[in-house]
Amino acid sequence: MNCFYHPNTPAVATCRDCGKAICKDCTTEMTNGDLLCPSCLESLGYYQLNWLKKFKKRLIAGGILGGIFLFFMIKELGTAGIIWGLIIGFFLFCLPVSYFVFGETPDPYVPTSLESAGKLELLKFGISFITSPIGLIKSIGKYKRMKAAAESNLKR
Ligand SMILES: [Zn+2]
Ligand SMILES: [Zn+2]
Repeated sequence: MNCFYHPNTPAVATCRDCGKAICKDCTTEMTNGDLLCPSCLESLGYYQLNWLKKFKKRLIAGGILGGIFLFFMIKELGTAGIIWGLIIGFFLFCLPVSYFVFGETPDPYVPTSLESAGKLELLKFGISFITSPIGLIKSIGKYKRMKAAAESNLKR
């Protein structure tokens, strides 16, 4: 049987909650030894809290990255550097969050040939950079959903 999320990869386990067949990459082992698939893992409160923490760190990293870039552009090019520094700096600012959110969900439609050739990371990085402002907007949507889910989980 092959992985539900990666139809070309052999499954190594079944998810505790939904029973789907999952490959090594999709399997997360809980401290009690239970195995979970990515989507069931996402519905757990502790995962959500962890995700929110990571999200904030990425946002700060993006701010530093964009800020440094802007600083060097102004230092090198003076006033002309402000425009380019702001435009490219903005993309750089969005990149860590965009890459994080885009890269974390296993995509069932990614060809395994790309994955095994190691080109996938490069591809993800390229797409994340070009679409990083869109990625940021999407990420904020996911952030809000995660936050609401985490809060409702904690109240239970
Ligand atoms: Zn599952
Ligand atoms: Zn998989």
